[in-house]
Amino acid sequence: MQEPWTVKSLLEWTTGYFRRKNIAEPRLEAELLLAYVLGIDRVGLYVNYYQPVNQDERSCYREIIKRRVQGEPVAYLTGKKEFFSLEFDVSPEVLIPRAETEVMVEKAIAIGRGMGGSLWVADVGTGCGAIAIALAVYLPNARIVAIDISSAAVELARKNARRYQVHDRIDFMVGDLLTPLGQDNAGLDIVVANLPYVPTNEWENLALEVKEFEPRIALDGGADGLAYYRRLMPQARQCLREGGYILVEIAWNQGPAMLSLMQHFFDEVEVGQDLAGRDRVVVGRKGAESPANQVL
Ligand code: GLN
Repeated sequence: MQEPWTVKSLLEWTTGYFRRKNIAEPRLEAELLLAYVLGIDRVGLYVNYYQPVNQDERSCYREIIKRRVQGEPVAYLTGKKEFFSLEFDVSPEVLIPRAETEVMVEKAIAIGRGMGGSLWVADVGTGCGAIAIALAVYLPNARIVAIDISSAAVELARKNARRYQVHDRIDFMVGDLLTPLGQDNAGLDIVVANLPYVPTNEWENLALEVKEFEPRIALDGGADGLAYYRRLMPQARQCLREGGYILVEIAWNQGPAMLSLMQHFFDEVEVGQDLAGRDRVVVGRKGAESPANQVL
């Protein structure tokens, strides 16, 4: 008689299969998907390592594995993604939070702690709300406004905020960049933004699982990738208080272009790197006068 399939043997088989299909983290993904199918967490897999997995569960797992090897991201299959040690619900209407974005969040938290007192922070293009919610959790004196052009994204972000009990400190708004705040000097302390920054002509080179499954509206940043940031800068300058900070995420090769764009509006502009040592975040500070008060 054939040995029954166990958690262990299923994981081993799937890891090998994923490796042959060139999935970057085969064991991790096999675990995330099996835990999802069994309705347990990854620790639970090890607690039940030698337990048999029944036929219904196996056929459900098989279906999901099939979708995964066709390119569908794990986060959309499970509806969840971890970011900054928090877990967020995600859907195909929002970009999946990326580990490299944690650099910008860390810098914003450090800046916020340095400022002290009560803070007012805007997260522009909030998506599933990961950045806004991480900031709310780690900056307990902050009030956050989280804005997205997609009402589906804002709904999801609101749900994620409730899970971490920070919804009473986050104002969610649907709208374009900072325009929902109006034209007046809003007196923000910090603006953070991970806007679409992929140049349109690089779209075809993106990994299949990105270009076929993630929302283009959250990725395509126009001809040079900086179209949204070009519109954001004058608005951010208007909405920040004097001495306030702006932090934006960029691609590895956009540092010099972003630096020169932001220097038109902000002082102390600096490019920071991610854990891979690549340019990833640009920070600027609003001085008394705009260095070159021109609209680009
Ligand atoms: N880092 C993302 C990617 O390369 C892009 C995110 C963005 O455009 N803001 O897939």
